[in-house]
Amino acid sequence: MLTNLRAVRTILKSNKFWIILFATIAAISVFLLVIFSFNSGTTVQIFYKDKLIDTMDLSENKTKQIKLDEGYNIIEVKDGNVFVKSADCKNQICVNSGKKSSVGSAIICAPHRLTVKITGESSADADT
Ligand SMILES: [Zn+2]
Repeated sequence: MLTNLRAVRTILKSNKFWIILFATIAAISVFLLVIFSFNSGTTVQIFYKDKLIDTMDLSENKTKQIKLDEGYNIIEVKDGNVFVKSADCKNQICVNSGKKSSVGSAIICAPHRLTVKITGESSADADT
């Protein structure tokens, strides 16, 4: 009987241990999820003639070439910044706009009627 009681106590103890461990893991997961969604929630939206044609994740280093009737723009995301790496537009204002990283900021290429905009929406929401 005594050994059974001890066994029960051990199980209870281990259950408590697992509950605490689970709660800790859950808390850390929620914490990481919040940080993760906060970082990856920033999306670069590419508009052509006021129409959304492409999106890029600001947390993912990537280069995209946008081909338009007017020409091309090479848009690069690097270390949380977005910038127009090169373009064949006449004024080169988009290229000279430099790096953008904050939500709400935009790079406009007027000759190509292209706008590169940083939004707080996730890329999944921006797809439609
Ligand atoms: Zn341009």
